[in-house]
Amino acid sequence: MAERRKLPARINPTRKTVTPWPGECLPSIAVRYAERTAITVGELLASGLSMRATDLASLPLTRDAVLAMSHLASLDPDDMLLRSYDTSGETVAIGDLGIPAYLLDPARRRVAPGTLKRDGDAPWIRLSWQLRCFACEPTSGEMLVDHCPCGKPISWVRCMSVFRCNWCGADLRDIPVRQAPAHLVESSRTFAALLGFGVSTASSRTIERLFPSASAGARLELFALLGRLQYRTEGAGPPLSCSLAPIRGLELALGWPTSFDGIVAGFVDAQPTRLGPAGALVDLRTEIDAIKQGPIRRTLLRRVEAGVRRAERIRRKKPNRPVRYRKTNHWESQVHAGRAARDASRQEALQPVLDWLQRFRTKPVDQVSRLRLRD
Ligand SMILES: [Zn+2]
Repeated sequence: MAERRKLPARINPTRKTVTPWPGECLPSIAVRYAERTAITVGELLASGLSMRATDLASLPLTRDAVLAMSHLASLDPDDMLLRSYDTSGETVAIGDLGIPAYLLDPARRRVAPGTLKRDGDAPWIRLSWQLRCFACEPTSGEMLVDHCPCGKPISWVRCMSVFRCNWCGADLRDIPVRQAPAHLVESSRTFAALLGFGVSTASSRTIERLFPSASAGARLELFALLGRLQYRTEGAGPPLSCSLAPIRGLELALGWPTSFDGIVAGFVDAQPTRLGPAGALVDLRTEIDAIKQGPIRRTLLRRVEAGVRRAERIRRKKPNRPVRYRKTNHWESQVHAGRAARDASRQEALQPVLDWLQRFRTKPVDQVSRLRLRD
Protein backbone atom coordinates (compact mmCIF):
# COMPACT_ATOMS: atom_id res chain seq x y z
CA MET A 1 0.00 0.00 0.00
CA ALA A 2 2.83 2.42 0.95
CA GLU A 3 4.39 1.64 -2.44
CA ARG A 4 1.22 2.71 -4.26
CA ARG A 5 1.04 6.00 -2.36
CA LYS A 6 4.55 7.14 -3.27
CA LEU A 7 4.36 10.90 -3.63
CA PRO A 8 6.19 13.20 -6.00
CA ALA A 9 8.60 15.58 -4.27
CA ARG A 10 6.19 18.47 -4.66
CA ILE A 11 3.49 16.89 -2.46
CA ASN A 12 4.44 17.51 1.13
CA PRO A 13 1.90 16.32 3.70
CA THR A 14 2.91 18.65 6.49
CA ARG A 15 3.60 21.96 4.78
CA LYS A 16 0.26 23.38 3.67
CA THR A 17 -3.33 22.37 4.07
CA VAL A 18 -6.92 23.65 3.94
CA THR A 19 -9.62 23.85 6.60
CA PRO A 20 -12.75 21.98 5.43
CA TRP A 21 -16.01 23.85 5.99
CA PRO A 22 -18.85 22.07 7.80
CA GLY A 23 -20.98 20.60 5.02
CA GLU A 24 -18.26 20.84 2.35
CA CYS A 25 -18.01 17.87 -0.02
CA LEU A 26 -14.78 15.89 -0.41
CA PRO A 27 -14.04 16.76 -4.08
CA SER A 28 -14.23 20.44 -3.11
CA ILE A 29 -11.71 19.90 -0.29
CA ALA A 30 -9.41 18.01 -2.70
CA VAL A 31 -9.55 20.76 -5.35
CA ARG A 32 -8.84 23.48 -2.79
CA TYR A 33 -6.00 21.42 -1.30
CA ALA A 34 -4.41 20.91 -4.72
CA GLU A 35 -4.63 24.65 -5.43
CA ARG A 36 -3.14 25.46 -2.03
CA THR A 37 -0.17 23.13 -2.54
CA ALA A 38 0.32 24.21 -6.17
CA ILE A 39 -0.18 20.76 -7.72
CA THR A 40 -2.82 19.75 -10.24
CA VAL A 41 -5.87 17.80 -9.13
CA GLY A 42 -4.74 15.04 -11.55
CA GLU A 43 -1.37 14.80 -9.79
CA LEU A 44 -3.05 14.67 -6.39
CA LEU A 45 -5.38 11.88 -7.51
CA ALA A 46 -2.89 9.79 -9.47
CA SER A 47 0.25 10.18 -7.37
CA GLY A 48 -1.16 11.00 -3.95
CA LEU A 49 -4.37 8.98 -3.77
CA SER A 50 -3.69 6.11 -6.23
CA MET A 51 -6.75 6.97 -8.28
CA ARG A 52 -7.34 7.69 -11.96
CA ALA A 53 -6.31 11.30 -12.65
CA THR A 54 -9.77 12.21 -13.96
CA ASP A 55 -11.79 10.38 -11.33
CA LEU A 56 -12.31 13.10 -8.72
CA ALA A 57 -16.04 12.31 -8.51
CA SER A 58 -15.19 8.84 -7.15
CA LEU A 59 -13.05 10.16 -4.31
CA PRO A 60 -15.89 10.13 -1.73
CA LEU A 61 -16.74 6.55 -2.79
CA THR A 62 -13.18 5.25 -2.26
CA ARG A 63 -12.44 4.75 1.44
CA ASP A 64 -8.68 4.18 0.99
CA ALA A 65 -8.36 7.36 -1.03
CA VAL A 66 -10.29 9.36 1.60
CA LEU A 67 -7.91 8.10 4.30
CA ALA A 68 -4.88 8.85 2.09
CA MET A 69 -6.26 12.35 1.48
CA SER A 70 -6.66 12.87 5.27
CA HIS A 71 -3.06 11.78 5.80
CA LEU A 72 -1.71 13.96 2.99
CA ALA A 73 -3.56 17.09 4.03
CA SER A 74 -3.17 16.43 7.79
CA LEU A 75 -6.98 16.37 8.21
CA ASP A 76 -9.06 14.44 10.74
CA PRO A 77 -9.77 11.04 9.09
CA ASP A 78 -13.04 10.58 11.03
CA ASP A 79 -14.34 13.94 9.84
CA MET A 80 -13.29 13.11 6.27
CA LEU A 81 -15.01 9.68 6.42
CA LEU A 82 -18.24 11.40 7.55
CA ARG A 83 -18.19 13.18 4.19
CA SER A 84 -17.64 9.98 2.17
CA TYR A 85 -20.36 8.02 0.37
CA ASP A 86 -20.97 4.36 1.06
CA THR A 87 -23.31 2.80 -1.48
CA SER A 88 -25.03 -0.49 -0.88
CA GLY A 89 -27.85 -1.41 -3.22
CA GLU A 90 -30.51 1.27 -3.40
CA THR A 91 -29.27 3.37 -0.51
CA VAL A 92 -26.22 5.49 0.05
CA ALA A 93 -24.79 6.43 3.43
CA ILE A 94 -23.15 9.84 3.75
CA GLY A 95 -21.54 9.58 7.16
CA ASP A 96 -24.43 8.45 9.35
CA LEU A 97 -27.11 9.76 7.00
CA GLY A 98 -28.76 7.06 4.86
CA ILE A 99 -30.69 8.27 1.80
CA PRO A 100 -32.08 6.70 -1.41
CA ALA A 101 -29.11 6.33 -3.77
CA TYR A 102 -30.68 8.10 -6.76
CA LEU A 103 -30.80 11.36 -4.79
CA LEU A 104 -27.02 11.61 -4.86
CA ASP A 105 -25.41 12.92 -8.01
CA PRO A 106 -21.68 12.44 -7.36
CA ALA A 107 -20.43 13.22 -10.89
CA ARG A 108 -22.22 16.53 -11.48
CA ARG A 109 -21.15 19.77 -9.82
CA ARG A 110 -24.02 22.19 -9.24
CA VAL A 111 -23.21 25.67 -8.00
CA ALA A 112 -24.94 28.70 -6.52
CA PRO A 113 -23.07 31.59 -8.20
CA GLY A 114 -24.11 34.27 -5.68
CA THR A 115 -23.16 32.08 -2.71
CA LEU A 116 -19.74 31.30 -4.23
CA LYS A 117 -19.19 35.03 -4.74
CA ARG A 118 -20.09 35.74 -1.11
CA ASP A 119 -17.60 33.03 0.02
CA GLY A 120 -14.87 35.55 -0.86
CA ASP A 121 -11.32 34.20 -1.02
CA ALA A 122 -12.19 30.56 -0.35
CA PRO A 123 -15.29 29.48 -2.31
CA TRP A 124 -16.38 25.91 -1.60
CA ILE A 125 -18.98 23.42 -2.85
CA ARG A 126 -21.69 22.33 -0.42
CA LEU A 127 -22.52 18.64 -0.01
CA SER A 128 -26.22 19.56 -0.31
CA TRP A 129 -25.59 20.78 -3.88
CA GLN A 130 -24.69 17.17 -4.78
CA LEU A 131 -28.16 16.01 -3.66
CA ARG A 132 -30.98 16.12 -6.20
CA CYS A 133 -33.69 17.05 -3.67
CA PHE A 134 -32.19 20.54 -3.37
CA ALA A 135 -33.46 22.73 -6.20
CA CYS A 136 -31.85 25.82 -4.71
CA GLU A 137 -29.32 26.87 -2.09
CA PRO A 138 -31.34 26.66 1.14
CA THR A 139 -29.89 29.76 2.83
CA SER A 140 -29.95 32.28 -0.03
CA GLY A 141 -32.78 30.70 -2.03
CA GLU A 142 -30.92 31.10 -5.34
CA MET A 143 -31.39 28.42 -8.02
CA LEU A 144 -28.53 25.97 -8.40
CA VAL A 145 -26.85 26.08 -11.81
CA ASP A 146 -25.70 22.85 -13.47
CA HIS A 147 -24.69 24.19 -16.89
CA CYS A 148 -22.01 26.72 -17.79
CA PRO A 149 -22.93 29.53 -20.20
CA CYS A 150 -20.68 27.63 -22.69
CA GLY A 151 -23.49 25.04 -22.81
CA LYS A 152 -21.68 22.15 -21.15
CA PRO A 153 -22.75 20.46 -17.91
CA ILE A 154 -20.53 21.46 -14.99
CA SER A 155 -18.86 18.40 -13.47
CA TRP A 156 -15.81 17.27 -11.50
CA VAL A 157 -13.98 15.94 -14.59
CA ARG A 158 -10.64 17.81 -14.89
CA CYS A 159 -11.91 20.37 -12.38
CA MET A 160 -9.09 22.76 -11.47
CA SER A 161 -11.04 25.25 -9.40
CA VAL A 162 -14.36 24.92 -7.59
CA PHE A 163 -15.73 28.14 -9.12
CA ARG A 164 -14.58 27.62 -12.71
CA CYS A 165 -16.17 25.66 -15.56
CA ASN A 166 -14.19 22.47 -16.05
CA TRP A 167 -14.59 22.79 -19.85
CA CYS A 168 -14.00 26.45 -20.74
CA GLY A 169 -12.57 27.85 -17.49
CA ALA A 170 -15.25 30.56 -17.19
CA ASP A 171 -15.77 32.04 -13.72
CA LEU A 172 -19.13 30.56 -12.66
CA ARG A 173 -19.58 33.33 -10.06
CA ASP A 174 -20.38 35.69 -12.94
CA ILE A 175 -23.55 33.75 -13.87
CA PRO A 176 -26.56 35.98 -13.00
CA VAL A 177 -28.30 34.86 -9.81
CA ARG A 178 -31.85 33.55 -10.28
CA GLN A 179 -34.08 33.46 -7.22
CA ALA A 180 -36.10 30.23 -6.78
CA PRO A 181 -39.91 30.31 -6.40
CA ALA A 182 -41.06 30.47 -2.77
CA HIS A 183 -42.20 26.83 -2.57
CA LEU A 184 -38.80 25.54 -3.78
CA VAL A 185 -36.96 27.70 -1.23
CA GLU A 186 -39.26 26.34 1.46
CA SER A 187 -38.72 22.73 0.33
CA SER A 188 -34.91 23.15 0.18
CA ARG A 189 -34.86 24.69 3.67
CA THR A 190 -37.02 21.86 4.97
CA PHE A 191 -34.80 19.20 3.34
CA ALA A 192 -31.74 20.96 4.82
CA ALA A 193 -33.31 20.82 8.28
CA LEU A 194 -34.43 17.20 7.94
CA LEU A 195 -31.02 16.05 6.64
CA GLY A 196 -29.04 17.99 9.24
CA PHE A 197 -27.63 20.66 6.88
CA GLY A 198 -29.61 23.57 8.29
CA VAL A 199 -31.78 24.96 11.07
CA SER A 200 -35.30 23.65 11.64
CA THR A 201 -38.26 25.27 9.88
CA ALA A 202 -41.99 25.21 10.64
CA SER A 203 -42.39 22.59 7.88
CA SER A 204 -39.57 20.37 9.15
CA ARG A 205 -41.10 20.45 12.62
CA THR A 206 -44.47 19.46 11.12
CA ILE A 207 -42.86 16.48 9.36
CA GLU A 208 -41.09 15.44 12.55
CA ARG A 209 -44.38 15.57 14.41
CA LEU A 210 -46.28 13.61 11.72
CA PHE A 211 -43.61 10.92 11.27
CA PRO A 212 -41.74 10.96 14.59
CA SER A 213 -39.95 7.62 14.56
CA ALA A 214 -38.84 7.65 10.89
CA SER A 215 -35.17 8.17 9.98
CA ALA A 216 -34.15 10.87 7.49
CA GLY A 217 -33.76 8.18 4.81
CA ALA A 218 -37.18 6.66 5.53
CA ARG A 219 -38.82 10.09 5.29
CA LEU A 220 -37.12 10.76 1.95
CA GLU A 221 -38.29 7.37 0.71
CA LEU A 222 -41.83 8.29 1.76
CA PHE A 223 -41.65 11.70 0.02
CA ALA A 224 -40.38 10.07 -3.18
CA LEU A 225 -43.22 7.53 -3.10
CA LEU A 226 -45.91 10.17 -2.46
CA GLY A 227 -44.54 12.36 -5.26
CA ARG A 228 -44.40 9.43 -7.69
CA LEU A 229 -47.94 8.32 -6.85
CA GLN A 230 -49.26 11.87 -7.24
CA TYR A 231 -47.67 12.10 -10.72
CA ARG A 232 -49.32 8.80 -11.60
CA THR A 233 -52.78 10.03 -10.52
CA GLU A 234 -52.29 13.00 -12.83
CA GLY A 235 -51.65 10.63 -15.72
CA ALA A 236 -48.03 11.70 -16.01
CA GLY A 237 -45.30 9.13 -16.38
CA PRO A 238 -42.25 9.30 -14.16
CA PRO A 239 -41.23 12.98 -13.91
CA LEU A 240 -38.50 14.18 -16.27
CA SER A 241 -36.15 14.61 -13.41
CA CYS A 242 -36.67 12.17 -10.56
CA SER A 243 -35.62 14.94 -8.14
CA LEU A 244 -39.08 16.43 -8.59
CA ALA A 245 -40.78 13.45 -6.93
CA PRO A 246 -39.37 13.94 -3.40
CA ILE A 247 -39.91 17.72 -3.59
CA ARG A 248 -43.54 17.18 -4.60
CA GLY A 249 -43.80 14.39 -2.03
CA LEU A 250 -42.56 16.64 0.78
CA GLU A 251 -45.38 19.07 0.06
CA LEU A 252 -47.84 16.17 0.04
CA ALA A 253 -46.45 14.81 3.32
CA LEU A 254 -47.17 18.19 4.92
CA GLY A 255 -50.81 17.73 3.94
CA TRP A 256 -50.90 14.22 5.47
CA PRO A 257 -53.29 12.36 5.67
CA THR A 258 -55.75 14.28 3.42
CA SER A 259 -53.25 14.43 0.57
CA PHE A 260 -52.70 10.66 0.66
CA ASP A 261 -56.45 9.98 0.75
CA GLY A 262 -56.65 12.12 -2.41
CA ILE A 263 -53.98 9.96 -4.05
CA VAL A 264 -55.87 6.77 -3.14
CA ALA A 265 -59.11 8.24 -4.55
CA GLY A 266 -57.22 9.23 -7.71
CA PHE A 267 -56.02 5.63 -8.13
CA VAL A 268 -59.56 4.29 -7.67
CA ASP A 269 -60.95 6.69 -10.29
CA ALA A 270 -58.22 5.77 -12.77
CA GLN A 271 -59.00 2.01 -12.65
CA PRO A 272 -60.85 0.39 -15.56
CA THR A 273 -64.50 -0.23 -14.54
CA ARG A 274 -64.12 -4.04 -14.57
CA LEU A 275 -61.40 -3.90 -11.90
CA GLY A 276 -63.10 -1.34 -9.66
CA PRO A 277 -61.59 -0.12 -6.38
CA ALA A 278 -59.92 -3.52 -5.79
CA GLY A 279 -57.64 -2.81 -8.76
CA ALA A 280 -56.35 0.30 -6.99
CA LEU A 281 -55.62 -1.77 -3.90
CA VAL A 282 -53.40 -4.17 -5.87
CA ASP A 283 -51.71 -1.32 -7.72
CA LEU A 284 -50.97 0.73 -4.60
CA ARG A 285 -49.86 -2.32 -2.57
CA THR A 286 -47.19 -3.08 -5.17
CA GLU A 287 -45.86 0.49 -4.92
CA ILE A 288 -45.98 0.63 -1.12
CA ASP A 289 -44.25 -2.75 -0.67
CA ALA A 290 -41.05 -1.03 -1.85
CA ILE A 291 -40.99 1.08 1.34
CA LYS A 292 -38.45 -0.50 3.65
CA GLN A 293 -39.43 0.98 7.02
CA GLY A 294 -42.13 -1.24 8.55
CA PRO A 295 -44.19 1.33 10.52
CA ILE A 296 -44.48 3.73 7.54
CA ARG A 297 -45.33 0.86 5.16
CA ARG A 298 -48.03 -0.46 7.50
CA THR A 299 -49.52 3.02 8.07
CA LEU A 300 -49.74 3.58 4.30
CA LEU A 301 -51.31 0.17 3.68
CA ARG A 302 -53.93 0.70 6.41
CA ARG A 303 -54.81 4.07 4.88
CA VAL A 304 -55.09 2.52 1.39
CA GLU A 305 -57.35 -0.27 2.65
CA ALA A 306 -59.63 2.22 4.43
CA GLY A 307 -59.74 4.43 1.33
CA VAL A 308 -60.58 1.54 -0.97
CA ARG A 309 -63.35 0.28 1.37
CA ARG A 310 -64.82 3.79 1.37
CA ALA A 311 -64.62 3.93 -2.44
CA GLU A 312 -66.38 0.55 -2.68
CA ARG A 313 -69.24 1.85 -0.50
CA ILE A 314 -69.61 4.93 -2.73
CA ARG A 315 -69.49 2.82 -5.91
CA ARG A 316 -72.18 0.44 -4.60
CA LYS A 317 -74.55 3.37 -4.04
CA LYS A 318 -73.71 5.41 -7.14
CA PRO A 319 -71.73 3.28 -9.63
CA ASN A 320 -70.89 6.13 -12.00
CA ARG A 321 -69.91 8.79 -9.51
CA PRO A 322 -66.17 9.42 -9.25
CA VAL A 323 -64.69 9.15 -5.78
CA ARG A 324 -63.98 12.62 -4.46
CA TYR A 325 -60.42 13.57 -5.32
CA ARG A 326 -58.97 16.62 -3.69
CA LYS A 327 -55.67 18.04 -4.83
CA THR A 328 -53.42 19.26 -2.09
CA ASN A 329 -50.54 21.57 -2.62
CA HIS A 330 -49.49 22.79 0.78
CA TRP A 331 -47.26 25.74 -0.02
CA GLU A 332 -49.13 26.92 -3.08
CA SER A 333 -52.37 27.04 -1.11
CA GLN A 334 -50.56 29.10 1.52
CA VAL A 335 -49.35 31.49 -1.19
CA HIS A 336 -52.92 31.78 -2.53
CA ALA A 337 -54.23 32.40 0.98
CA GLY A 338 -51.64 35.17 1.41
CA ARG A 339 -52.58 36.72 -1.93
CA ALA A 340 -56.30 36.63 -1.09
CA ALA A 341 -55.60 38.32 2.26
CA ARG A 342 -53.53 41.01 0.52
CA ASP A 343 -56.29 41.60 -2.05
CA ALA A 344 -58.86 41.83 0.75
CA SER A 345 -56.84 44.42 2.66
CA ARG A 346 -56.28 46.41 -0.54
CA GLN A 347 -60.00 46.28 -1.19
CA GLU A 348 -60.60 47.59 2.33
CA ALA A 349 -58.17 50.47 1.78
CA LEU A 350 -59.82 51.33 -1.55
CA GLN A 351 -63.37 51.19 -0.24
CA PRO A 352 -63.68 54.90 0.79
CA VAL A 353 -62.46 55.94 -2.66
CA LEU A 354 -64.91 53.57 -4.33
CA ASP A 355 -67.74 54.91 -2.16
CA TRP A 356 -66.78 58.43 -3.13
CA LEU A 357 -66.72 57.51 -6.83
CA GLN A 358 -70.06 55.78 -6.45
CA ARG A 359 -71.65 59.13 -5.71
CA PHE A 360 -70.54 60.54 -9.06
CA ARG A 361 -71.36 57.41 -11.05
CA THR A 362 -68.92 58.38 -13.77
CA LYS A 363 -67.78 54.80 -14.32
CA PRO A 364 -69.15 51.46 -13.22
CA VAL A 365 -67.57 50.86 -9.82
CA ASP A 366 -66.43 47.30 -10.40
CA GLN A 367 -64.47 48.42 -13.46
CA VAL A 368 -62.57 50.99 -11.37
CA SER A 369 -61.92 48.50 -8.62
CA ARG A 370 -60.55 45.95 -11.09
CA LEU A 371 -58.33 48.62 -12.57
CA ARG A 372 -56.83 49.56 -9.22
CA LEU A 373 -56.52 46.06 -7.83
CA ARG A 374 -54.47 44.81 -10.70
CA ASP A 375 -51.40 46.99 -10.03
ZN1 LIG B 1 -17.91 26.47 -19.71
